[in-house]
Amino acid sequence: MDTTILEKINSEIRVCRKCPLGDSCTNHVVGEGNSKADLLFVGEAPGKNEDLTGKPFCGKAGRVLDQLLKISGYKREDIYIANILKCRPPKNRNPKLEEIKLCTPYLVGQLEAIQPKIICCLGNFSVSFIMEKFGLSNKIQPIGKIHGKIFIPPKMRLLKIMPLYHPASVTYNPNMFSILKKDFQMLKNIPV
Ligand code: SF4
Repeated sequence: MDTTILEKINSEIRVCRKCPLGDSCTNHVVGEGNSKADLLFVGEAPGKNEDLTGKPFCGKAGRVLDQLLKISGYKREDIYIANILKCRPPKNRNPKLEEIKLCTPYLVGQLEAIQPKIICCLGNFSVSFIMEKFGLSNKIQPIGKIHGKIFIPPKMRLLKIMPLYHPASVTYNPNMFSILKKDFQMLKNIPV
């Protein structure tokens, strides 16, 4: 963990204009949490509330995440939350490949600075990026098949990667909560 490097990266993000989202957003959502976190969540991109406040997971999906964290035994102050994109795509559209390419060096820098022991990927964009990044491309499948499973990168045997459904899925389909709950319960038993 290197807080100086993390703060430097986060300062760069705050003023970034590498893609058009930097001009269309209200706030860059840098990431938030414990710079010494063992557990790090990677979401997709800021939504409306996150864009307005500059804080990750502060809207409806954030409230779902807070409920799930209680189940996992972790508190917000224990973890770090980052996103694939740091600026909100208009109308919450999916991130574009070019935006992901331009923005993810920041995420990689955050991961290198924090060095978490578990990375939970929230939703398909996060799962694809993180699993590719850590040499697990051949294990990528639709989230319905790999959520709640633990993957160990071939060259980083101490790191665990867990794909999860995005908490926002509960806001569209309340039945998703029980699936997420079961997966978050598993976090209690993963040693860090
Ligand atoms: S989305 Fe990422 S690359 Fe684009 S302006 Fe924001 S911080 Fe920069």
